[in-house]
Amino acid sequence: MNPKVRDIIMDLKSYLEYLKVIGIETLPLFEKNATDQPSIPSSDTPSIVTLEEIRRELGDCQRCKLHRTRRTLVFGEGNDKAKLMFVGEGPGYDEDVQGRPFVGRAGQLLTKIIQSIHLQREEVYITNIIKCRPPQNRNPEPDEIECCHPFLLKQIHAIQPQIICALGTFAAQTLLKTDTKITALRGRLYELKGIKVIPTYHPAYLLRNPERKREVWEDMKLISERLNNA
Ligand code: URA
Repeated sequence: MNPKVRDIIMDLKSYLEYLKVIGIETLPLFEKNATDQPSIPSSDTPSIVTLEEIRRELGDCQRCKLHRTRRTLVFGEGNDKAKLMFVGEGPGYDEDVQGRPFVGRAGQLLTKIIQSIHLQREEVYITNIIKCRPPQNRNPEPDEIECCHPFLLKQIHAIQPQIICALGTFAAQTLLKTDTKITALRGRLYELKGIKVIPTYHPAYLLRNPERKREVWEDMKLISERLNNA
């Protein structure tokens, strides 16, 4: 198959999956002529599910094997109308104990990164692609990412941020549905259903590779410019 056609089909498939997740299961066959249409919302428009409802739906989640070893499900926290959302990889030890995202050493660095563009942690929304800590902080596995993905999409749909900053390889690859390495992905803008996605290095990687902080600063400047020009 022509690779361009394959990409279009994959993109359409992921868009249809997204619509299903947010409650749209049928599509009109034809675009109606705008002049025939009264300008009222259609009755099939899904009401936006709130973060509390999404949390309630997750419940005492046992959809994947991580529930056996986790202490606390870490849903996410912050402003439910945030213009900027951060998506990390998954909870570590401190997050599992406290039930909050990014509260360990990497989290302290993330807080400083957020402040570097004159925002407070409480003004943004922070979550992860998986909500439960993998044993010994190993990498998330594909089935774990897949189980959590509908909930991440619902969180994004509820918040409707202008920009998502994807922190590290797993967040960037999951949101952008790609295998491309973070070094190649970062520094640029992508789009996910009308929301800008800016990938950057994970703060835990920065703790081990502080020479990469400059690139993260470039990415944060890009975020800041976009937020201020919107
Ligand atoms: N690393 C992550 O990716 N997420 C957290 O919540 C903490 C550390």
